[in-house]
Amino acid sequence: MHFRNVTREAVSRLNDRPETSAGLSVKMSEYLARYRPRLRFGFVLKALLWLVLPTLASSAFARELLTFDGSLKEQFTPLSKSRLEAWSPDEAKINNIAPMPRGRAVRVTAPAGGGFVTNADVVAVEWNKVESLGLWLHRSAAEAKEHPTVELEVRLIEADRKAYFWRRIEIAHVGWQKLLLPLDWFVWSDGRIPCWDNVKYIGFRLRDEGAFTLDTIWTEQASDARTEFVPTDLLARVAFPKQLFHGAEDKPVETNSLRTLETRDVQLLTNAKSLDLERLAAHCGMIAKQVREELPFLTEPRSGSQLIIFEESAEYRRFITRHARQLKVLVNVPDTPGFTFQGVSSSFWDAELGTLRPVFAHEFLHGYLSRTTRFPCHGEWLHEGLATYFQLKFHPQANLDQLVRDGLSSPKKHVTLKELCNGQHISLTQYWQAGTLCQMLLTEPNYRSKLATLFQRLEGASSTDLGPHLEAAWQTDWEMLTADWRAFCERQFPKK
Ligand SMILES: [Zn+2]
Repeated sequence: MHFRNVTREAVSRLNDRPETSAGLSVKMSEYLARYRPRLRFGFVLKALLWLVLPTLASSAFARELLTFDGSLKEQFTPLSKSRLEAWSPDEAKINNIAPMPRGRAVRVTAPAGGGFVTNADVVAVEWNKVESLGLWLHRSAAEAKEHPTVELEVRLIEADRKAYFWRRIEIAHVGWQKLLLPLDWFVWSDGRIPCWDNVKYIGFRLRDEGAFTLDTIWTEQASDARTEFVPTDLLARVAFPKQLFHGAEDKPVETNSLRTLETRDVQLLTNAKSLDLERLAAHCGMIAKQVREELPFLTEPRSGSQLIIFEESAEYRRFITRHARQLKVLVNVPDTPGFTFQGVSSSFWDAELGTLRPVFAHEFLHGYLSRTTRFPCHGEWLHEGLATYFQLKFHPQANLDQLVRDGLSSPKKHVTLKELCNGQHISLTQYWQAGTLCQMLLTEPNYRSKLATLFQRLEGASSTDLGPHLEAAWQTDWEMLTADWRAFCERQFPKK
């Protein structure tokens, strides 16, 4: 990607910024060494130092978060087979690394899966007001020689530990490295979309065997309050790097080919010349209204879901790759004409199918459900079933009766509901099953009356695996549910 013409601020929000230690302007630990050598945490310090040293620049202290002083046991819980040690300055001198952060650090040595998590009340941060998380990371030459590249995951974990934001870090350096990790590009954990308001712990988890040393962790304040969704202006830079950035220095120019439209329900972004934006937005609005009518307990989204329509299919595929790279995750570019990831939906223009292409509705539904429920779209039964059900209301499929009857006719043509609803990715050939099951849950009174409870239970469990909730929600089991579903399908999709 080219960032030559992107403003400094944009660069900082788009990328992790590794910097050499020479770039560090003020080190909290240096002040600590001079003034209050035994204070443990930055957020306590901040208040104290404001009293003691009112003339010092506030920025130096507003940033401090965690300095690894005091008893490691009180502050951290090691993950399995992980060894935590307080960092010893002598050791660093032996390695002749200078300049160096002189704070108190923690060294972690662990196999893959090891690391540590902060204990309760160790960090108190208003994460929705943070732009980036900063940290100092150190490796000795000996550690680097033994494990040249080590992957580490930083996790910002919710209070119930069932959902978290994460970001991958590749450690391949020797000595100290300062990293700034923009929260906009943290990834949601699978089961439930995490929420910044609920983040309570910071975790570090090694993906490979290795060792690393962490010094001070701090936060950089954001100019705007954040949500769980990446702002559309940032997303646009990833989606349309060429269109947005061939202006003069530091002045992004929006070319004529790029158009946006935001309504209550949708944020559309496109370079497709023939797409009728207003018509698509109105269509999405009607779909959203239908969802709210049938699922009245869903929360109203703070902003509409993001739907990007590219002129060319190749652009759509390139975007998925770029978006994944931005998030430092591996995503297989799908064969399907639409994709939703981290609440961002994308597809591409097809002249024959026009503005009201069914896949636009389908992906919009995934985006909208990501904002009104806490279920991320990863192709499991609930997301695909609801998207299929509502899509078919607006884009009926002529041969649906036949398809359902045929699917029911033989056990080879469908999977058991237990397998379908286990919370894992389902295949395209099972969408009719998930769609008809959701149709039953939304329309049959005895199922419908407990849907709100079911959604709450699934969110609490951080998984859409239906099995554990059948008894509690509906006093039923797989056998009875399957019998009801089969009878429902036979009524709804009769033989002609
Ligand atoms: Zn889908």
